[in-house]
Amino acid sequence: MPVAQFARPRVAAPRLEREILVLVSSGRARSRKEIAESLGIAPSTVSQRVQAMLASGVLEETGEGASSGGRRPRALRVPGSTGYLGVVDVGGTHARIGILRHGGELATTTEVAIAIADGPEPVLTQVTAALRDLASTLGSEAGSSEAGGSEAGKAVRNGSEKSGADSGRLLGIGISLPGPVDVARRALDSPSRMPGWSGFDVGSWLEGALDVPAVVENDANAMAVGEHFGHARRTRHSVSVKAGSAIGAGILVDDRLHRGSGGAAGDITHTRIAAAGDTPCSCGNRGCLETVASGAALVRLLREQGYDVAATADVLALVRDAEPVATTLTRTAGRHLGEVLCAVVNFFNPGAVYLGGALSTLEPFVSAIRSQIYEGAHPLMTRDLVIAPSALGADANLVGVGRLLEDALVPHALAG
Ligand SMILES: [Zn+2]
Repeated sequence: MPVAQFARPRVAAPRLEREILVLVSSGRARSRKEIAESLGIAPSTVSQRVQAMLASGVLEETGEGASSGGRRPRALRVPGSTGYLGVVDVGGTHARIGILRHGGELATTTEVAIAIADGPEPVLTQVTAALRDLASTLGSEAGSSEAGGSEAGKAVRNGSEKSGADSGRLLGIGISLPGPVDVARRALDSPSRMPGWSGFDVGSWLEGALDVPAVVENDANAMAVGEHFGHARRTRHSVSVKAGSAIGAGILVDDRLHRGSGGAAGDITHTRIAAAGDTPCSCGNRGCLETVASGAALVRLLREQGYDVAATADVLALVRDAEPVATTLTRTAGRHLGEVLCAVVNFFNPGAVYLGGALSTLEPFVSAIRSQIYEGAHPLMTRDLVIAPSALGADANLVGVGRLLEDALVPHALAG
């Protein structure tokens, strides 16, 4: 049973072999040359290892390599990895759903209205139905995971080599959720305002529904992975902040997601700051950053001044209209977040801080964060620091959780 093998890989591959498999199975590299460039190691070392992997059958060659004159190079492939990934980003009122092609490119996306408070089963039922609909628009066998296996794959490839290689069958599903995720249990851990979700095994539910491996990740972490690899100018260490109705952050160290010992790394939203005074927070504490710098905080502050606002979207509309009170409050919110990020930057010395979420589309918010960091952090920290808006926008979580899924599928390929 593939799902069980996925959960407990029986073969522990050496590190280089694993890295080669991740590159090839995800489509990030298709030849020995691309592997060597991507890993920054000698082509001869790669050739030697690839030869051994071909001999043992964990890699195979196809005739599809790009020709640049002379002998046509042969492309590498992981047997059984032909297909696409389903990726889902669940928010409070909407779920964004996408199909990720080989190579990490989003083929198509859609959004469905959901109510997170309905609980996990109604929401996941809606999401998987929407994913099936979306997959069926790819044509061929793509919509049916039951039709997977080598026979179906072969039929598609015979029909059209190119589209068969690109679509194939559903290989796995990755989902990002708006709360603290216990990645090993693939469940949310005591999220606020999400009745029924705490401890619910989302990963097993999805595997039962779709019969493919599933990974479950927190939304700020998914976004951080997407942004980290999504910018043209690369850094090995980054912090990504998601500032919407709540605030979250994710950290990559040496190109790897850093979850911390309890899986809660990056949770800056409950940092106490003096300016927040005794304002009660959703976490039960008082004076957290969230109570003065989040979209929910801006809604509350504007309502206290008599404004008719109900959600972060209303705040966005006011600031885009240059409404002075909303603009000033938004700038102050950015300054508070920037103050906390100064400590993060001084401590962690990242190469980049990426700003995502709805509030980060507002210029006064972003420029306040930027000036606060440049003024408050040590010059050694800011000398080469990039502070940039999100490169992927609403798709960051989809691309990020897709990348984590690609990485997780490798032990599956090894065991199978
Ligand atoms: Zn709090």
